[in-house]
Amino acid sequence: MGASRPTVVVIGAGPAGASAARVSAAAGLRTIVVERHRLPRDKVCGEACTPRAVRSLARVGLLPRLQDQGHEVLRGHLVSPGGVVLRAKLPPAVFGGKALTIRRSVLDALLLEEALRCGAELIEGVAVDGLQRSNGTVRVALANGDRIDASVIVGCDGVHSTVRRALGVSRPGATRIAQAMRAVFENVELPDPGALTLVWDKALLPAYGWVFPLPGGCANVGVGVRADRLKARGESLTAVFERFLDAPSVREALRGARPAGRALGCPLPYSAAWGPCVFDRALLAGDAAGLVNPLTGEGIDLAMESGELAGEAVADAARGGDFGAAALASHERACEATFGRMMRLNDWLGRAFSMPWLLDRIFRAGNRSPIVREQVAQIALGGQRAAITARFVAEVVRG
Ligand SMILES: Cc1cc2nc3c(=O)[nH]c(=O)nc-3n(C[C@H](O)[C@H](O)[C@H](O)COP(=O)(O)OP(=O)(O)OC[C@H]3O[C@@H](n4cnc5c(N)ncnc54)[C@H](O)[C@@H]3O)c2cc1C
Repeated sequence: MGASRPTVVVIGAGPAGASAARVSAAAGLRTIVVERHRLPRDKVCGEACTPRAVRSLARVGLLPRLQDQGHEVLRGHLVSPGGVVLRAKLPPAVFGGKALTIRRSVLDALLLEEALRCGAELIEGVAVDGLQRSNGTVRVALANGDRIDASVIVGCDGVHSTVRRALGVSRPGATRIAQAMRAVFENVELPDPGALTLVWDKALLPAYGWVFPLPGGCANVGVGVRADRLKARGESLTAVFERFLDAPSVREALRGARPAGRALGCPLPYSAAWGPCVFDRALLAGDAAGLVNPLTGEGIDLAMESGELAGEAVADAARGGDFGAAALASHERACEATFGRMMRLNDWLGRAFSMPWLLDRIFRAGNRSPIVREQVAQIALGGQRAAITARFVAEVVRG
């Protein structure tokens, strides 16, 4: 494409933004990423890439480099509210059955590097603070006073998205947001460093607490809880987190470990009701679009995929020379086709995971039945089931 090629501005350089920018730049569009921080930057996260995310990383050829700097995980230790422990393998049939934990500073920097290698440009250390859409362009206002005129923008600026607000979409309510807090510990010797531990503590349901191994003898330890439930409890997130750290199994896992920094909190979308994600000359992806697994809170995988889908929609629209909402609508359809059923099922499962007695029963059944064990592993460690089988239900009813 020549000098008049369209300009795509991607706002935010997390997994969604880097993926959108990679696809858009590889399609030959002038692509500018604007990121408020300088990379590498940290992101408050559990830092676990699901097998689905690992598949995406493999597809773009990044896996070998990430494996060197990450930590492979093949199992999960799932603990029910009543203390039933279910040890489950990540099913190899689901995206290869390998998860990877990796510091977000490393993951996000490598994803961005790949976008830049494909031709994207980067403006870092400056935030976008407004948008103006008129006469066939979107004027992107930067906090340093600069302006960029874009043919189309992709808002990948996370849970607090400025872009989403500027497009007139209100913040999700408390039933659609979880509050989460994590700390990284060092000098950790976990009993099973090849496993993710997820603890469905009664105080957190349907969300959970976690202990995830990280490379270099570190661990990421955290809790999530739906915002309305936290409010109803009248407790601070810090108090909930500290109680989790004090649970005997967590104390035991962290014996001899020391915090490698402050505990930090951050909200995340927590509902199947994502969107809208298509506007005139604008798209949303990742957390900005509300795309996080509404049961497990995992969003790295959905951010990468929805970013890629946004990049593809922009490239398609560029071929037709039209960036209006109708021309970009393929993004919404692609997100629905890719995530819709899984999101709705997991949202529904959230109701089951709110019942402590049912979780105890499911995990007990999982200890007896390989079918239940495998399906629970798919749900809890990858969120990838699109349906619950009759056999699963029958085995759980048997208890
Ligand atoms: C405590 C916690 C634990 C989690 N654990 C996991 C986990 O283990 N596994 C998992 O898969 N998911 C996890 N998630 C969810 C996951 O972190 C997100 O879903 C994922 O980071 C979304 O990627 P994103 O690219 O959409 O947004 P982000 O990763 O948030 O990236 C957004 C980027 O936009 C930038 N930005 C923001 N505003 C502006 C602006 N105005 N101008 C320019 N740039 C801007 C930010 O600096 C940031 O770099 C967790 C979330 C939390 C809060």
